[in-house]
Amino acid sequence: MDELIEVRRSRRVRRWTLTVPWGDPPVLTVPQWMREPDIQSVVEEHREWIAAERAKQRPKLGLDPRDVSEIDARRSARELITMLAEEEALELGVAYKRIEIRDQRTRWGSCSTRGTLSFNWRLVLAPYDVLDYVVVHELCHIREPNHSRRFWRLVETRRPGWRAHRDWLHQHGPELLAFRPAA
Ligand SMILES: [Zn+2]
Repeated sequence: MDELIEVRRSRRVRRWTLTVPWGDPPVLTVPQWMREPDIQSVVEEHREWIAAERAKQRPKLGLDPRDVSEIDARRSARELITMLAEEEALELGVAYKRIEIRDQRTRWGSCSTRGTLSFNWRLVLAPYDVLDYVVVHELCHIREPNHSRRFWRLVETRRPGWRAHRDWLHQHGPELLAFRPAA
């Protein structure tokens, strides 16, 4: 059966984009001015593509929503991330204000200009080294706010194996971000 596609009109886009998020309906974002028949033809022309994208989205992490409590996971995320951040901030010679554990749909972590580090609680469900990499990545942003060469050189000095962890997130991130505990 064809999936229901959510159409969003936006004043900020110049052309349409189609995404097929894990566990959510496909989203077609179109420019405000796009005509209804043109939208329908984009939808019809991409039915097969959507089905193919869906077919690739087979769960590989073996996560069972009944096995995970969000409260417990958030607590362990906070403990683990705080411990790692304290250690690594000393090594890097940087200071942060506080750590927030969040329920984000699209990101793993962020670093505000005011020194607040935010992390997605789902990182505790990733391999330990991946979580560790995300913490180090955000702390490096205190010294280098952008993803410049200097930023990556800094990450490299702290975690020479960072590429493998970034690749893990590319490969499994969408599945993990879509994960929702049962209760
Ligand atoms: Zn970054």
